[in-house]
Amino acid sequence: MATSVQKRASAVEAVDCDVVVVGAGFGGLYALHKLRESGWSVRGLEAAPDVGGTWYWNRYPGARCDVPSLFYSYSWSPELRREWRWTNRYAGQEEILSYARFAADRLDLRKLIDFDTRVASATFDEKSERWIVETDRSGHLTARFLIMATGGLSVPNTPDIPGVADFQGAIYHTARWPQEPVSFEGKKVGIIGTGSSGIQAIPMIAQAAKQLVVFQRTPNFSVPARNRPLTDEDHKSFDDGLDAYLASLEQSDFGRVPPTAFTAEVPPRDVQWKHYEKLWNEGGSGGFLKAFPNILVHPDVNEVAADFVRQKIRETVKDPKTAAALSPSGYPFGVKRLCVDTDYFDTYNRPNVELVNLRDEPIEKITAHAVDTKSRHFELDALVFATGFDAVTGALLAVDIRGRNGATLKDAWSEGPKTYLGLTVKDFPNLFTITGPGSPSVIGNVITNCEYHVDWIDACLAHMRRHDLGTIEPDAEAQAAWGVHVTEVADRTLFPKANSWYLGVNIPGKPRVFMPYIGEGYRTTCKEIVADNYRGFTFGVSADRERAAAE
Ligand code: NAP
Repeated sequence: MATSVQKRASAVEAVDCDVVVVGAGFGGLYALHKLRESGWSVRGLEAAPDVGGTWYWNRYPGARCDVPSLFYSYSWSPELRREWRWTNRYAGQEEILSYARFAADRLDLRKLIDFDTRVASATFDEKSERWIVETDRSGHLTARFLIMATGGLSVPNTPDIPGVADFQGAIYHTARWPQEPVSFEGKKVGIIGTGSSGIQAIPMIAQAAKQLVVFQRTPNFSVPARNRPLTDEDHKSFDDGLDAYLASLEQSDFGRVPPTAFTAEVPPRDVQWKHYEKLWNEGGSGGFLKAFPNILVHPDVNEVAADFVRQKIRETVKDPKTAAALSPSGYPFGVKRLCVDTDYFDTYNRPNVELVNLRDEPIEKITAHAVDTKSRHFELDALVFATGFDAVTGALLAVDIRGRNGATLKDAWSEGPKTYLGLTVKDFPNLFTITGPGSPSVIGNVITNCEYHVDWIDACLAHMRRHDLGTIEPDAEAQAAWGVHVTEVADRTLFPKANSWYLGVNIPGKPRVFMPYIGEGYRTTCKEIVADNYRGFTFGVSADRERAAAE
């Protein structure tokens, strides 16, 4: 079995179980719980020493979720809801990680998980109809079903800038932040990247460092979070609206672009402006992205939102040249992930912060103590990469996954990911991806997206048990048609007009394919497919049953 992961001496317990779940973030933890409750034997594998997934790794200063905390929680468990009380409108990384730990302990999941264990390969053995899972430890596990709950934002992207290995100061990546505290006091710090991570880290590092140099390639749209402590009234209002919220999840529409987007009128500019003013004062991104049904579809409507944010940047940033460099243009508003910040633009008014516009002066090289652009030399003690992720497919393709007839996932996805419903892949029987490409995945509330996939898989496995079925796999036609549909939906919107990580363009060589599903009614479609006897799937008779019949 080909694997590039280095083996360690300690052996993994060589179990044979019904289900192996890879990843102990919110998706993996719920999968372990739900499937154990349904009577399956389950085993979890996790590369980190603890639960939490992306919230374990992304502990950079200022890391905070931009989905309101009351909603960024498991929706399936009234007990967990009763026993956990969020403190802030938007929860910080530490609190979210504590919540993941609380859930793992409360549900008694840790004993099911091998931590510090990175999966290297998974090979489907057709004869036994089992996945053989190898890790970076000796020994292997086998399982009927393999669930990849590896997350959409798990593999950090560190650009290969000439000389980076020569840098003698401290180097950090926001997605691999050290466990121990990092002090920037008295230091000259550089940061590369102004996406959601950079935009959160920059104001915090600016407060701590002697000097901060921000290397920006593309300016981003960002709106204020207006984070604040939650009050009793907030909690009560959430509880009062809970049933309606849960029902709205069931009706599924957490996709971003409703059908009405294509027929809606263009509202007058002053009406839009007034509404954006209100949303700006309220804080958060959700309101902006739904401000008008066609905001992510109609260029004229979208442009008003873009103008509005640019105006706010000009009003906030005192130096006009810096304000201009921070103002996004040339791509629509909200179709790269809209950033949510606390004092981001205002930070550029600090005397110790300098913005370097890489459009004017690209980085030429990194040396032992500096970053050199085309025209200047910046001496630095520390360098922070806030350069994002090989998103959505990165963690799946980091594992050498081999299906029927030696098919590799890498080859199958060489022109972009191909899935049925973002849950299953042809030629890879009994493999499920939680929030895989071709599903809403990274759009909307990822925790509830994960929950839905786990519930779907649980029901599917129950169906297979009921009917004594051995394998499930999508048909070629159904998978191809779903792929066409995912692309068509995206192409009707403004999303493909920005070079975002949704399209994989941040990773050199990655095919330019829009990966999330942004249509409405995803859950309804999934339900209809199940109700129509799992339309588009082929089930194999269990190998045990075939053997018994032959004897
Ligand atoms: P990102 O959005 O991909 O941003 C990466 C940044 O690095 C971009 O500004 C990019 O510039 C820059 N960059 C990459 N390679 C570069 C190079 N060679 N030279 C100069 N600049 C370079 O990554 P992220 O900020 O980590 O965010 C990723 C996603 O994680 C977010 O979109 C969001 O979904 C999630 N996230 C959420 C939160 C939250 O909930 N608040 C916080 C953090 C992250 P270009 O744009 O020019 O490529």
